[in-house]
Amino acid sequence: MRESQAIMNSQIYNTLSSLTFDNTFICELPGDSESANYRRQVSGACYSKVKPTPVSAPKLIAYSKEAAALLDISEETCKSEEFTQVFSGNKLLSGMSPYAACYGGHQFGNWAGQLGDGRAINLGEIVNKRLERWTLQIKGAGATPYSRNADGLAVLRSSVREFLCSEAMFHLGIPTTRALSIIATGEMVERDMFYNGNLKEEPGAVVCRIAPSFIRFGNFEIFAFRNDIQTLKKLLDYTIRRDFSLYKGRCTDLLVSTDSLSAKLYINWFEEVCRRTADMVVEWMRVGFVHGVMNTDNMSVLGLTIDYGPYGWIENYDPNWTPNTTDAHGKRYRFSNQPQIAHWNLAQLANAIYPLIEDVEPLQQALAVYSDRFKDKWQQMMAEKLGFRTFEADVDANLTEELFKLLSMVETDMTIFFRRLALVDFKSDYLTIQKFPSNNNYSEATYISNKEDESRNLELFMDAYYVPSQLTADYISRMANWLRLYTKRLEKDNLPYEIKRSQMDLANPKYVLRNYLAQLAIDKAEDGDFSMIHRLLELLRHPYSEQRENEEFAVKRPDWARHRQGCSMLSCSS
Ligand code: AMP
Ligand code: MG
Repeated sequence: MRESQAIMNSQIYNTLSSLTFDNTFICELPGDSESANYRRQVSGACYSKVKPTPVSAPKLIAYSKEAAALLDISEETCKSEEFTQVFSGNKLLSGMSPYAACYGGHQFGNWAGQLGDGRAINLGEIVNKRLERWTLQIKGAGATPYSRNADGLAVLRSSVREFLCSEAMFHLGIPTTRALSIIATGEMVERDMFYNGNLKEEPGAVVCRIAPSFIRFGNFEIFAFRNDIQTLKKLLDYTIRRDFSLYKGRCTDLLVSTDSLSAKLYINWFEEVCRRTADMVVEWMRVGFVHGVMNTDNMSVLGLTIDYGPYGWIENYDPNWTPNTTDAHGKRYRFSNQPQIAHWNLAQLANAIYPLIEDVEPLQQALAVYSDRFKDKWQQMMAEKLGFRTFEADVDANLTEELFKLLSMVETDMTIFFRRLALVDFKSDYLTIQKFPSNNNYSEATYISNKEDESRNLELFMDAYYVPSQLTADYISRMANWLRLYTKRLEKDNLPYEIKRSQMDLANPKYVLRNYLAQLAIDKAEDGDFSMIHRLLELLRHPYSEQRENEEFAVKRPDWARHRQGCSMLSCSS
């Protein structure tokens, strides 16, 4: 009996033994000399060692097989008891050396001082078989020296949202941190969801996130703010060496020898961060993603979407929408403001590394790279979304501007609208519409775009309109006019319909993590039923494909979800 137990243990252990840790962050950077776990200001250190708090009854809710593959972990391993113990924080593997990172940040435009990993604990770094580096981090595993006045825990609802959205974003092709697993802790956590004095006990959970690096703008800001230039330099040299060197197959612009880290290299690095940030935000704009809390502590220097809190997806196209109730007044982080906020955040990063460069001019020039890159990438993205060969600014700038005006004039579902737009074809004088498959039968219909019956041109988009009574004669005529100009523009490019349509279908997802879908998964999970999490995880693995059996997830938000908490409104309390 004892022997077979020993064999079993060794087999289980072997399955996670592919994780070989080298932990460069703590090996190469200065750490906190205090080892006790109490809340404090930590100076001269990039991290504090801290152990996860064990939980009583961890239960695996879901894992991502693709994220596991990045760690060379099999699905079988993910289902093992040891996996649950390790990624709930109950057990440390040999080689793990857990720590919380020290960082600061600008929150809602104001310097907030030391923040740090208040409820995230890094377990260590591994290099996988393909020589890719991954940091493993569990979120919600207990208090750290950076927890300030909070508990270091995470509730099930926010963990479900982070887990599903990380993987959904990855499958959409958007740079993001990844989610390996979500585990219920078996413990309850107290939360005041809307900061209105209504405390509620909620089930707790831990998500394991993985990323090549979790370094944020705020990791640099804290040392600049404290005038600790020595640690600032150590951290930047380390970041460039570890995450931006040629050997990692990443940034091709930072080929300067890493032995002689210099002001020029720092500028090149900053430019690269600007480029990656621009690329990431363009992608958010493409799919209608609103991060919700673009504080500088939530900005990754790798240009990854990080910290999924009160994020949301645009349903009816409203450029002023933010899901974050904490930001309801100023709407600093509203959908349309994200590009400008990213620029502002980059300016804070530039300020932070200024002491290592001591010359404003090159930093300003580098910052301008963000704007240029954003414009180029945005235009390229819009051309893909609209099915054009390239973006021809003289015509297409007006065309896109008018389209976005139209989309916001009446409540129009952004995802459905663009997906349907791909079905529009052109033919000399006619607007030809390949009619959307109804009852699983593909059929085609040609609508003559004439003055007498302009409303017929809108038939294709009817499923995207939330309030059909908003479709006034003026709107219908304006939209018909836009469609005429649009089809003319398509005609000019003369791309074969199928090619144009597949280009558009790859830029316009059919399935996104609609706010209410995440909430449905949460409602069920809170009742102990995790099936919807699994179903959405599977659905969102193929966001650009037609999935006949999943049409119900491609429809516009139902009316009950319009004002429901968690669907259209979220707070930072999680
Ligand atoms: P956020 O803007 O939600 O990413 O969090 C801002 C800061 O608050 C970060 O330093 C987090 O680690 C910290 N924080 C958020 N929630 C908690 C919590 N429940 N316990 C401890 N720290 C937290
Ligand atoms: Mg954060």
